[in-house]
Formats: sequence, structure tokens, C-alpha cells
Amino acid sequence: MSALDQPEVQAFRREVQSFLLDWEDLDAYLRHGPRWERVTDFFAALGRRGWLALSWPEAEGGRAARALLEYVLWDEIAYARAARNPLCTIVARTILRAGSDAQRSEWLPAIRAGRIHFALGYSEPEAGSDLASLRTMARREGAFYRVDGQKCWQSYAGHVDHLWLLARTGEPGSRGTGLSLLIVDTDAPGLTIRPLPTLDGDALYECHFEGVQVPVTRRVGPEHGAWQLMAEALADERHIQFPAGRLRRDLDEVQAFVRSIGLEGRDAVTERLGELAVRVLEAELLALRVVEQMETGRDTTVAAAANKVFHTELSQEIARQAFEWGGADVLVDGARVQDLWRQSLWETIGGGTSEVMRSVIARHGLGLGGAR
Ligand SMILES: Cc1cc2nc3c(=O)[nH]c(=O)nc-3n(C[C@H](O)[C@H](O)[C@H](O)COP(=O)(O)OP(=O)(O)OC[C@H]3O[C@@H](n4cnc5c(N)ncnc54)[C@H](O)[C@@H]3O)c2cc1C
Repeated sequence: MSALDQPEVQAFRREVQSFLLDWEDLDAYLRHGPRWERVTDFFAALGRRGWLALSWPEAEGGRAARALLEYVLWDEIAYARAARNPLCTIVARTILRAGSDAQRSEWLPAIRAGRIHFALGYSEPEAGSDLASLRTMARREGAFYRVDGQKCWQSYAGHVDHLWLLARTGEPGSRGTGLSLLIVDTDAPGLTIRPLPTLDGDALYECHFEGVQVPVTRRVGPEHGAWQLMAEALADERHIQFPAGRLRRDLDEVQAFVRSIGLEGRDAVTERLGELAVRVLEAELLALRVVEQMETGRDTTVAAAANKVFHTELSQEIARQAFEWGGADVLVDGARVQDLWRQSLWETIGGGTSEVMRSVIARHGLGLGGAR
């Protein structure tokens, strides 16, 4: 019996499906921005059910549930196209791993209730794939850090209340040994956040820091010690943000499109849809492999990178297939498959590019080249 067929897992899936009936109008998976208020209502509703803290320890207000149930939750939410996983859940995992007692008491209750939201402040104009070269400085001045620099491409930064900032607390040139993680209020004096429109009609954001003061108590984990925490946080992101439910829904929508343009039933179309359906099942197996490693306490770096690259390249392949079959009809503004295509283009970049994912697999999985 597959793990997904276990009665406990199926019962939970049905519970999630029934909860999602109340959110059928949300449809914020492909574009969060315009619906942000309703998205935060949705996250608060998840919080009331304890679903933003499903796998957390009971001592932290969680349910201590299996990672598999958390996967099923986000798998169904992705299939329903309700909304993407809020990034506060990724922040929470790092606070659970490395936060002080005071930080756990301060941040975890608000995160698990869906009351506060975070954007991830990692990338910079000259530091994306090579994060260790980032230049945003956090200089220690007594009980504060003074932050100066620039971040770019932050998802949701124009909507959320906090930024999870990776900054250099060490000397310039200290690369991965001089970085720290700080929590910054998005309305802090000296922080300016501007939208960067994206080709799917949504926006990413750039964040400029000029003498922003951040209390030292807002540093999570050791000073200069963020690199290992980041590796774990990125693996979390490359798993929880990419459940197979999204791909199942993409394929269903392309199939509906094929029907709408009268191509359903043609042998070549049937064969190709069958091939894509097999690849979606493969994507699910890769995602479940990460879950299994999480449940057995193993390192998920390689499996999560494989999940991310396979999932995002498949979402592009499914969307491109609609182009091949639909031609100009796909380009009609507002056509659903056009949305899929536009968004699938950037999926292979955010959270680490496909090239970088392959590099992680080669280095850490196959032992090729030096560790980075
Ligand atoms: C939709 C979206 C959402 C994002 N959300 C966030 C966010 O919330 N927070 C955040 O901080 N950032 C975010 N980003 C930024 C994202 O993490 C970076 O764009 C990404 O890491 C790539 O960095 P870069 O854009 O600087 O490209 P570069 O690192 O300059 O890469 C340019 C090209 O070179 C290739 N390349 C680079 N290094 C190597 C290498 N060593 N080997 C082989 N090829 C290489 C890359 O694969 C890419 O094709 C987001 C980006 C997108 C598109």
C-alpha cells in the first residue's frame, strides 16, 4: 500500500478537500497579489485549524503530525489553486531549529495563527545563485545592527509585515562564514520596498536599506552562523512550495483546453497526455521521497533539489504543450493556459535555478566537484 493510500492519510485528504470548498473562489495560486487580503483570511483559517503548525512539536503548539500529512495539505491546496504555502512556515522551521526560547515564544504563536507574514530577503542584484557573495551589511552598533544595502526579487514583500533577512555581519569577503539571519519589520524607518512587475501580471519587490536599525534580539541563530540554517531552509522551500497537486491541476486544465479546441480523442494527443500524466506521477514520487527523508530525519538537500527541478521543468513542459496544440488561441489574454505558461517561465528561477539544482545534485548527491 502506498503511503498516500493509508486510511489516516486518505481521511485527512478528504477533510482538507471539504475545508477547501469554502475557498473555491480564492484562486490565488497563480497570482497572489491582487487577492492578498483574502489570502491572509485563508491563512488565518488554516491557523484556526492548527494546519500552519501541523508537524511542529506539541510543546510549540503544533500537532506533531507526520510530514506526510503536511504534504497532503499543501498538495490539495495547490490542486485547488487556493494559495501557495506562506513563507512564514519556512521561517518557523528555522526558528524551531535555532531560535532562542524567547524567540520561539515571541514568533511561533503569531505564525501558527496566520497573524504575521514574511518575505524572504536573500537575493541581491549581484548575488542570486551565489548567495555567499551578498553585500547587504548588518554592522553591530551596541544592541542593534545597522543594515545598509539592497535586496531584489522578494516575493510578497509589498504585502507582508516582516522580512527574513540574510545579511553580512562579518567582514566583506567572508562569504558563507560571515552571514546572519535577522527579522526586520517592513515598516522600519530606512527600509523602502518597491514593486518589480513580473510577466505573469503579479510583482516581485526590491528592498533598499539605509541605516535600518534591527535589535540584536531579532537575530535568529548564531552571529555569522546562518549558512547551515540557510541550506536547511532552502531544502524546506524546494519541497513545500512544489507539491504534485499543482501539476495534476495544470494537466487537468490543459486537458480541458484540448477538449475546448476539439482535439480530444486524437491518437497523438491522447498519447502525449498519457506521457505527461506519467511524468506527473514521477513528480509525486520525488516529492514523497523528500517526505520520507524528513520523517526518518535524513538530509533532504539532494532530494529537495531534484523535486524542485523536476517539478518546475515539468510545469513548463505541460504549459508549452498547450501552445503546440492551441497555437494562437493560447495567447488570448485571460486564457487559463496562458497564465500557466507565463508563471511556469519563472518557476525554474525562484528558489534556485535549474542549473543550480543540478549542481546541488551533482555535488552533494553524486560527489562530483567540491562542496559549495
Ligand atoms: C518568481 C521568483 C520569485 C523569487 N522570490 C524570491 C524571494 O522571495 N526572495 C529572494 O531573496 N529571492 C527571490 N527570487 C530570486 C531568485 O532566488 C534568484 O533570481 C535566483 O536565485 C537566481 O539568481 P539571479 O537572478 O541573480 O541569477 P544569477 O545567479 O545571476 O544566474 C544567471 C544565470 O546563470 C546561471 N548560473 C549561475 N550560477 C551558476 C552556476 N554556479 N552553475 C551553473 N549555472 C549558473 C543561472 O542558472 C542562471 O541561468 C525570486 C525569483 C523569481 C524568478
